[in-house]
Amino acid sequence: METTEKKPFVYDLSLEQWQEWVKQNGESAFRAGQIFDWLYVKRVSSFEEMSNLPKALREKLLAAFSFVTLKEVAKQQSQDGTVKFLFELEDKNAIETVIMKHSYGNSVCVTTQVGCRIGCTFCASTLGGLKRNLAPGEIIAQVVKAQTLLDATDERVSSIVIMGIGEPFENYDAVMTFLNVMIHPKGLNIGQRHITVSTSGIVPNIYRFADEATQINLAISIHAPNDQLRSKLMPVNRRFPFADLIEACKYYVAKTGRRITFEYALMGGVNDQAEHAEELAQVLKGLPLSHVNLIPVNFVMERNFVRTSRDDIFAFQRILEKHKINATIRREQGSDIAAACGQLRAKHMEASAR
Ligand code: SF4
Repeated sequence: METTEKKPFVYDLSLEQWQEWVKQNGESAFRAGQIFDWLYVKRVSSFEEMSNLPKALREKLLAAFSFVTLKEVAKQQSQDGTVKFLFELEDKNAIETVIMKHSYGNSVCVTTQVGCRIGCTFCASTLGGLKRNLAPGEIIAQVVKAQTLLDATDERVSSIVIMGIGEPFENYDAVMTFLNVMIHPKGLNIGQRHITVSTSGIVPNIYRFADEATQINLAISIHAPNDQLRSKLMPVNRRFPFADLIEACKYYVAKTGRRITFEYALMGGVNDQAEHAEELAQVLKGLPLSHVNLIPVNFVMERNFVRTSRDDIFAFQRILEKHKINATIRREQGSDIAAACGQLRAKHMEASAR
C-alpha cells in the first residue's frame, strides 16, 4: 500500500479534535467552533477567508493543515439527474463521487478507499486492488464539494450512502470521523437516519459499529444464500463465513433495535433462481427486521455477468415476501452513464495506462 508523509487536511478533525487542537495551540476554546463554522456552514476553501480569526491563528492553520484538492477530471450527467464525478486527489489517484436526485432530495454516494481489496467478482472497483485508504478529510471533502455545487441552486445534500469505491469497515476510524462531522449539528447536520453505511461483511467491525449505538443505517452486501456461492462471489466470505456474519447481524439488531438492509445483486444464472430465494429466506428468517434490497447487477465488461430478466427479479422478490421478508428492487439510477461503483474510475485507469 502507498503511504504519503504530509500535512493533515482541515477536514480530518471532528469538532472535539479541533477543541483539543486550539487548546494545545494556546487559543481560546471558542475558536474551534469558528473554524468548524467556516468549514461546514460557510464552506470556504482557504484560511484567508476565515475573516474573524486573528491573522496569527490563520498562519498557524496554514502551517499545520491543507485543504483537500478534488480536481474534477470527468463528469457524467444522466438523464435522470444523477451526476457522477471522477476526482483526482493530490497524489493523482482518482476517486468517484455520485450525486443522485430523488423525489425526497439529493443523495451523495461517497468513496472511502482508493480501489478495494475485497475482490467481489462483480465489481469494477476491485480490479486494480487497493491503493490506499482515504483520509477522513478526503471523504468529507466529497460531501462538501457536492453541497457547494448544490448551493448554486439552493439545494441541500439530504442523505448520504457510503457505497462508493472501497470497503468502509476496512477504513473504520476515518469513516467514523466522517460520520461524526456529517451528523454534527454544527457540521453538515445530516440526520443519522438519512445516512447508510454499506459493508461487505467485516464481522469484527459490525460488532464495533453496533456498539457505537448510532441511528445510522447499516447495509450488508450478502449477494448469495450460502457459503459456497458467497465465497465464490465475495472472497471476504472465506475470512468471515456466513454463520459468523449472521451472528454479528443478530448482535447488531439486538443492540440497536434497528433493521439491517441486505443488498443482493442479482446476477443472471448465478444467484437469481427460485432455490436461491428460498434458501435466502431461510437464512434471514431468524433475523428480525430484515430487509432485502434486490439490485439488478450492472454489466462489467471484464466480468462477463449478464442481467437477470425482469420476470426473474419479480419472482425472486415474491418468494422472499411469501416468507414475510420485506424486499424491494433498487431503482436504477444513472445506468446511461455507467454509474455503478468503480466503472468510471476503471475507464480512467485504462485510458491512463494506454
Ligand atoms: S463491491 Fe464494495 S467491497 Fe466489494 S470489491 Fe467492490 S468496492 Fe470492494
